[in-house]
Amino acid sequence: MMKSNNKRPFLIVTNESPKVNINSALQELIEGNERYSSGKCIHPNQSAKHRIKVAETPHPFAIILSCSDSRVPPEIIFDCGIGDLFVIRVAGNILNSEITGSIEYAVEYFGTKLIVVMGHKRCGAVLAAIQGGEFKGNIKSLVDVIQPAVEKARGETGDIVENAVNKNIEITVEGLKLSSPILKQGVLQGNLNIIGAYYDIDNGYVTFFK
Ligand SMILES: [Zn+2]
Repeated sequence: MMKSNNKRPFLIVTNESPKVNINSALQELIEGNERYSSGKCIHPNQSAKHRIKVAETPHPFAIILSCSDSRVPPEIIFDCGIGDLFVIRVAGNILNSEITGSIEYAVEYFGTKLIVVMGHKRCGAVLAAIQGGEFKGNIKSLVDVIQPAVEKARGETGDIVENAVNKNIEITVEGLKLSSPILKQGVLQGNLNIIGAYYDIDNGYVTFFK
C-alpha cells in the first residue's frame, strides 16, 4: 500500500513495524482491552525512550474512529501508548469527507491495515438523534447524520438507543467501504480490514463485530 514516488505532504514512513499486520493488529486490541477491562493494564509504550523512538516514524497498528465522549478514550481502553493508534474522535462516530480523508491518510502513509469504528453504550449523540427537537448551532448537522441509524432501529424490538448505536456503527463501517475508493481497494486486495466495535462503558469491555 505504500506509495513510492508521489508527494508525501506530512511524514515519510520507510519501514513497516512488525505490529502493522492485518492479523496481529486486531489481536493487539483484543488483548489490550482484556487487560484494561480486567484491571491488569501494563501501560505499554509510554516511556520517554519510546516517545523518542516514534518521534520520527510512527507505525500505528490500528485506526480507531470513536465517539468524542469523555468516557471512551481509545488509548486507555486498549491499554496502548504513544504511536500505537491513529485516532479520530467525533460525537457519534460519524463520517464526513474530512474524517474519511484522515483515515485514508493513515492507510496510505503509515500502511495501517485495521480500521475499527467504535460506538458505545448510552451514546449521547445517538440519544439526541432519537429524542429529536430543536438543536442550536451546528448540532443539527451532526444529529442529521445519525438519523438513518435511528430510523432503522425504530422497527426493531429491544432498547432503541442500543439498537441505534449498533446500526450507527454498521452504517459508518459500510460508508467507509463504499465512499472511499482507496479503502475499498484495500479491502478487496486483502490489505485492509474494516470492522465495527461496541464499547460497554459500564464494564470496560469491547465487543468486535464479526
Ligand atoms: Zn457517544
